[in-house]
Amino acid sequence: MIKFLDNKLFRYLSVFLFLNSSILQVKSSSALAAWALNTNGVLELRTKSNTNLKAYFKKANQISGDRFWVDFPGELKNPRTIKGNGPIKEIRLGKPKKGKTRLVIEFKEETYLKPLTWQMVGLDQKRWRIKLFNPKYSFKKIGEGLVEKKRENIKAKQNLIHKRKNNHSYLKLPEIKRNKFEVVIDPGHGGPDPGAIGIGGLRETDVVLEVSKIVKNLLSEKGVKVKLTRTNEVDLDLPPRVSIANNRDADIFVSIHANASRGKRRDINGLETFYYRGWRGRLLAKRIQKQILRVSPGSPDRGVKQGRFYVIKNTRMPAVLVEIGFLTGRLDARRLEKITHRKRLAYAIAKGILEYLDKVG
Ligand SMILES: [Zn+2]
Repeated sequence: MIKFLDNKLFRYLSVFLFLNSSILQVKSSSALAAWALNTNGVLELRTKSNTNLKAYFKKANQISGDRFWVDFPGELKNPRTIKGNGPIKEIRLGKPKKGKTRLVIEFKEETYLKPLTWQMVGLDQKRWRIKLFNPKYSFKKIGEGLVEKKRENIKAKQNLIHKRKNNHSYLKLPEIKRNKFEVVIDPGHGGPDPGAIGIGGLRETDVVLEVSKIVKNLLSEKGVKVKLTRTNEVDLDLPPRVSIANNRDADIFVSIHANASRGKRRDINGLETFYYRGWRGRLLAKRIQKQILRVSPGSPDRGVKQGRFYVIKNTRMPAVLVEIGFLTGRLDARRLEKITHRKRLAYAIAKGILEYLDKVG
């Protein structure tokens, strides 16, 4: 437990915390691993082991309100500001200088604080806590990452795995940054052009439109803006599909199709994903291909390939064309006619897209 020292001359209070005085490398990543400001006014921090923290408080001036901040060794990659609520105006994560990370909590003007009583407490080598304000303020928790002990994390993970098994939702979709990305999904064909016709008259246009609509819903739930090039059975040429994506400056373009083999051979099944250029397009194709294969056991992996299709050649963003199976193949067609399989494929495509956006976006 270390008390703040009052330094009236500069009208700020500072505390230096040395749990372990090992020397840190200058060029390391941020020592701040996770943080949370809880409803009871307690700020919790998780850092790398053997981190030296420095905490400060400064009274309001004309420019900003009362501020509390903590400096960590190691450079923050992505400075950001998080909107506050209750007594908190905002929380900023920044790099005050090269090789440093700063977490700033700025309070609203009317907030009553008693910084002289504040104590930063080291709970163990990685965890810290400090009480900043009273629970009398109604405040909704803000934080990033997990501040709890590893052991608790493992338990939480095990619970999650258990839950997933029971739900059969093995395709749980990843969380990504909300309201950041825009995706154009292009259901192939439409209207007078039904695309491939499969066993029992199964039509490509119907299958891919339904899958595309589910993909849209799944991505929308994750905070991704999605535009479908068509939402019903209309005749849509290829150039307008491309313009929709290019005009919106979408992050990625995904065209969804189903295959037919020459001579309608029932023994030909499989999935494939095409890209036209660039490592991003290729990566997106790989992510989607991997996921759609997972939900199509036994159907051959026809691979990730380069293809010169109009829609992926002329779109300016990473673009792929997915073939979700052969409507003419015995194995694939039997699945593609079922809504449950279409849903699984949509989940798989959405998962591939989210993984890609999370990694590259
Ligand atoms: Zn097609």
